[in-house]
Amino acid sequence: MTQFARPAFLDSGPKRLLIDGKLVDALSGERFQSISASTGEVVAELALAGPEDVDRAVAAARAAFEGPWSRFKPAERQAILIRLAELVDREFDDLALLDTMEMGRPITASRGLRGMIQRSLHHFAGAATMIHGQTLGNSFPVELLSYTLREPVGVVGAIIPWNGPLFSAVWKVGPVLATGCTVVLKPAEDAGLSPLRFGELCLEAGVPPGVVNIVTGKGGTGAALSAHPDVDKIAFTGSCETGQRIIQASAGSVKKVTMELGGKSPNIVFADADIDALIPSAAMGVFNNSGQVCAAGTRLFVERPVYEEVVARVAEFGAALKIGPSLDPATQIGPLVSARQYERVSSYMELGPQEGARLVSGGHRVTGGELDKGHFVAPTVFADVKDEMRIAREEIFGPVASILPFDDFDEVIKRANATRFGLAGGVWTKNIDKAMTAVKRIRAGSVWVNHYFAMDPAVPFGGYKMSGFGREGGFEHIDAYLQTKGVWIRTYS
Ligand code: NAP
Ligand code: MG
Repeated sequence: MTQFARPAFLDSGPKRLLIDGKLVDALSGERFQSISASTGEVVAELALAGPEDVDRAVAAARAAFEGPWSRFKPAERQAILIRLAELVDREFDDLALLDTMEMGRPITASRGLRGMIQRSLHHFAGAATMIHGQTLGNSFPVELLSYTLREPVGVVGAIIPWNGPLFSAVWKVGPVLATGCTVVLKPAEDAGLSPLRFGELCLEAGVPPGVVNIVTGKGGTGAALSAHPDVDKIAFTGSCETGQRIIQASAGSVKKVTMELGGKSPNIVFADADIDALIPSAAMGVFNNSGQVCAAGTRLFVERPVYEEVVARVAEFGAALKIGPSLDPATQIGPLVSARQYERVSSYMELGPQEGARLVSGGHRVTGGELDKGHFVAPTVFADVKDEMRIAREEIFGPVASILPFDDFDEVIKRANATRFGLAGGVWTKNIDKAMTAVKRIRAGSVWVNHYFAMDPAVPFGGYKMSGFGREGGFEHIDAYLQTKGVWIRTYS
């Protein structure tokens, strides 16, 4: 590491769990190593939480929920969120660095999230004083006043993936603080550091002990949390397969669950679109974060008259991106998160040509010098992809674009929707009627027109179909941490 000072957080010994406001080792004393995606070095040792640690974290969260935290006024929770936003901003360079060192997102991209993280914390702060029920007319034969109370759902188990650790932690903990819930957060094995540091900042911001607990560990830690009888809600972001397991585990105590799962999102280019404008956006819609983005527009449908031009230019754009070590500010494409993820991505890169797709660019690992230490993959473009190929159907979670030609509006909408997923979609055209019709007909939780990837905490994001249910962003995000009580009061006149 040359130009960045090592975060002091990494020098205070092995990282411990955050339970009931204290940093503690796992009861078993077990630890695991966090490996840098970019350099292969050990970044830190983290405590490996077992079921008994999950138990005490849930107990702390329950006690805090029923204790002093329940008496915090909305404006007090808001003040904590505002203070937390300030602390996160103060520490942001280090938090971005932790993400980059651990999961490998290029440092310039990690630093670029500062505004989004701030807007998110401000959004949750604003929401804290906006929670309200309704007064409802009723037709019961005697006089009764009826109204609703919105109440926090209770102890939340939050389980997050590694592809945006700080962002995911903020989007899970923010609504907890806004609504008066408490949380046990389980980061991904490959990216626990920024969530842990964020947890410490929660304490510094005045979050009482037990309200935010962080249990680092592996899949088993998440499994213990999702089956725990005293957890009221699970908020999950991750793969569809793990989501299905969590839904099953949650059935035992009928937990409320929200699921932000994977995708294979269509990005549709009509021949009348502004091609110059769409090339960078369509390319980065796949290659951003080395393709490790749930909403990536990995099925790029292009109308036949401009097909070859778009294929060539997306490939050219990808080939020109600078692949390099994550800590180099000039790097645009960093490594995949892990050897395991590389195995997965490379198997699809081999599969493409076997299925009959035409490899236009990339398709291989990039090595040499420092790049030998991580798993770097060249932005890859497959053309002449057919709908039934696995590279067009399955989520690869790597920098691999499948580009498919189409001839007709109805045809492309039908093909775009022929997937078990429904997270996002894009449409490129100058024709407003075509755009608006496509927006209505694409079955996905987010649709961008002449853009790709815009996100904001004020706007709901989430999945149709097997991409999940529940929304993050917008007020629906807050709603998902609340439940409604109908109240009846007998009145006499
Ligand atoms: P993953 O394997 O599903 O893991 C997600 C989280 O679940 C991790 O913390 C993981 O822990 C934990 N986990 C693993 N097994 C579990 C179990 N049996 N019970 C409970 N928790 C368990 O997903 P990933 O590989 O980290 O992330 C990639 C996936 O996430 C992609 O499919 C992507 O599309 C999806 N994603 C979706 C969104 C969205 O908003 N829709 C956002 C980002 C990512 P360990 O890591 O310790 O195993
Ligand atoms: Mg790692």
